Amino acid sequence: MTPRNSQPRLKEGNPTVKDVVPEVLASPELEDLADVEVPVGDKDPVESGSLDHRDFDETPFWKHIPAYAGVDREEFLSASFQMRNTVTSAKDVRELLTGLVSEDFLADIEQGLHEAPMNLRLTPYLLSLADWNDPYRDPIRIQFLPVASTRRPDHPRLSLDSLHETEDSPTPGLVHRYPDKALFLPLDVCPVYCRYCTRSYAVGGSTDTVDKEGYKPQDERWKAAFAYLASRPEIEDVVVSGGDAYMLPPRRLREILEVLLAIPHIRRIRIATKGPAVMPMKILTDHRWTDALCEMVDKGRELCKEVCVHTHFNSTHEITDISRQAMDLLFRRGVKVRNQSVLVRGVNDSAEEMVRLVKQLSYMNVQPYYVYQHDMVKGVEELRTRLEDSMEIERQVRGSTAGFNTPTFVTDVPGGGGKRDLHSFDYYDETTGISVYRSPAVDDSRVYLYFDPIDLLPAEGRARWEQSREHDRMIKEALLASGLSGMELAAQD
Ligand SMILES: *Cc1c(COP(=O)(O)O)cnc(C)c1O
Ligand code: SF4
Repeated sequence: MTPRNSQPRLKEGNPTVKDVVPEVLASPELEDLADVEVPVGDKDPVESGSLDHRDFDETPFWKHIPAYAGVDREEFLSASFQMRNTVTSAKDVRELLTGLVSEDFLADIEQGLHEAPMNLRLTPYLLSLADWNDPYRDPIRIQFLPVASTRRPDHPRLSLDSLHETEDSPTPGLVHRYPDKALFLPLDVCPVYCRYCTRSYAVGGSTDTVDKEGYKPQDERWKAAFAYLASRPEIEDVVVSGGDAYMLPPRRLREILEVLLAIPHIRRIRIATKGPAVMPMKILTDHRWTDALCEMVDKGRELCKEVCVHTHFNSTHEITDISRQAMDLLFRRGVKVRNQSVLVRGVNDSAEEMVRLVKQLSYMNVQPYYVYQHDMVKGVEELRTRLEDSMEIERQVRGSTAGFNTPTFVTDVPGGGGKRDLHSFDYYDETTGISVYRSPAVDDSRVYLYFDPIDLLPAEGRARWEQSREHDRMIKEALLASGLSGMELAAQD
């Protein structure tokens, strides 16, 4: 085949490289390019702003919170300061924000916390990244601080452990759902508590509305989990989640990884932690913890096994130069980091923000892996998006950057079907908001349903959900239309 143009496209008076980027002269490897004419491209020059994913906040952003105004960089950027000053009560919030927000807003938070299934836990780092001039719309406030006034009724088909993790557990804190992988939950605490936590049935301690059993980092429980993993040759892949491994002392982190690496059939271990997104300074200043992680990654590499980190950045508002430094450190030390986001209304449910997030993560060598459709979790109905809107965001993200940095958008289908590609439903009714999925690798006899939040449905759909006798009828219609009504419906509670 003849190339369409076998010569560079040049035009008269065309600039040379050194006219356009004089910096090349400073770099011996690029010097030879200096006098080459720049070929003419078809693409329009990039708009200013389209590269803002390369901007990382280096300012002392915490100083606008009066209580932190006197805290210098070194102190604010230490993990011990962040742990010591973690915000855990409405009283803390009141002390930190009085004067910055209205009294009504503080009262709204107090009532919101009273009704919420998750306790409050927030690092000073995140608290100072929020925009307290516009707290109702701030993505950090939305994720961590509930307010009563925006609360919506739960979807009638929603349950507390919607993913049925406790049912797929051979021993407490170990979920074996997929054929070759398992999820180990060593503990039930995290450096922050996300309002939308899918594990709100266990993580973060009991609240006014939910009593939790929880998972303590107890030897007995861990041993039972290790025993099961060792006995199942099919398990190659273990996710260590929680709770959050960031909260494990280095000795305990090492212990888990030593045991898992010693089990011959386990080939891949992921440490799932929200830490880098909410307290990146720990990686930079808690050397014992970071060393424990990096040594275990090295040990895995010696054994030709992968030990990597899966983290959870949800928006660019959580990313600063400190995040970048922490991710650079892990990259230099050979630790692969991937990211899983949850699509949250008002936080990252626009194509613009999601593209920026994906690009900013990629820029820090963090690979965007998944974006989750928000699970059907109690008490946070106003945070979910419609499947239709999530799919539109996916369409706009795909193609905007490298394919290997393009996250797969998934729905973890209620009833224990596991993660399904958002687009892979057998049927979706945008009016009733019901989508129908199969998950043959997990259970080929069942169908699984996901339900859009009712407040975003068209009027006709909203009206039908108002009448309880319509509920089963809508589900029957969807199953019939999907052609799967012969299959068993996964339990809804
Ligand atoms: C998410 C999850 C995994 C890991 O799944 P990947 O698709 O490989 O990321 C394993 N077990 C359970 C129960 C899970 O929910
Ligand atoms: S960090 Fe993860 S496990 Fe912990 S509260 Fe948030 S979503 Fe739940």
